[in-house]
Amino acid sequence: MNYKTDGDSIAKWIKSLCRSYEVIAPKKEPNGDIFYSIIKPSDAVCLDFAGTPINTPKDFIYENYKRLIKWDFSSNESAVETFEEESKKRIIFLRNCDIKAIRLLDAWFEQDVADEDYKKFRENLTLVTIGCHLIGPHCFCSTFGVDPVEKENYELQLTKEENSYIVQAKNLVLELPNHLEEISHEPKELKTVILDPKNIHTIYDFEKNTELYNEITKRCQLCDGCTFLCPTCTCYDIVDHGDEIKGERLRLWDSCLFSSFTKMAKGYDPEPTFAHSWSRRLSCKLVMNDRSCIGCGRCDMTCPSNIGMKSILMLAQHKDHA
Ligand code: SF4
Ligand code: SF4
Repeated sequence: MNYKTDGDSIAKWIKSLCRSYEVIAPKKEPNGDIFYSIIKPSDAVCLDFAGTPINTPKDFIYENYKRLIKWDFSSNESAVETFEEESKKRIIFLRNCDIKAIRLLDAWFEQDVADEDYKKFRENLTLVTIGCHLIGPHCFCSTFGVDPVEKENYELQLTKEENSYIVQAKNLVLELPNHLEEISHEPKELKTVILDPKNIHTIYDFEKNTELYNEITKRCQLCDGCTFLCPTCTCYDIVDHGDEIKGERLRLWDSCLFSSFTKMAKGYDPEPTFAHSWSRRLSCKLVMNDRSCIGCGRCDMTCPSNIGMKSILMLAQHKDHA
């Protein structure tokens, strides 16, 4: 069913959802930046912006610095404490590209031996799609077949259109806002840039693409903004802090660009060069794993050297046609 309503009714509705759920949605910071944030009833949710929020939904779904175990044997009351996922009902309002990112995380964390904490978290999470009415400067989701306004695969989608909001409800996963006017609605066709370098299937081959890899490895500062902001990067490390008497075990995000990422016993590294690391990154994002890049453009937004994924595809395209 399709409906139309105004911004006031959407704001009141989100406020009322905060009474029964933890609500995560885009919020404007005082300097104008948009971040996905946990919403308090007094907060104004921002649904009128171009592109994606700066941070990724991964911050709330698969967070960095997750404490797994704590131990303390320093007194007679020695204890080991484990930290399991709370069963809290949550709603997250996301751009369509970020919804696709969550579906990729689902496939990753629920494959083979499922991550039980992740499963529990997802069972209590409702996804609401925020359709795009404006395209951000770094967006290229259409390259990977993601639609800025979802056509089919949503349960509830909100899209700003002029001075109103279009509410599309397929399944009644939530109580809907008040003051809805039922309408017939065809979403406007909106596309981002579509990049299709001929060599996308062989882009991981750094020996064939020497010019491209020379450029990437020369420019990359190894700051790791791109992997940490990427909503589909899943690699992590498990680290113990403290000693055998008192300490904690943490799960930290890792990055395939770190030089220690593939180091093995006795210092052996099967992928010893920076070109190897980049080859694995491009293969993971553009070739393997159902092409895990969703074209959100965050790596382009953060990269100090202009070699986010969109820029790399543009460089590759340029070299294809040179
Ligand atoms: S590689 Fe870049 S554009 Fe692709 S999903 Fe990750 S952050 Fe977004
Ligand atoms: S953001 Fe740019 S400079 Fe930083 S690690 Fe990624 S590609 Fe390299």
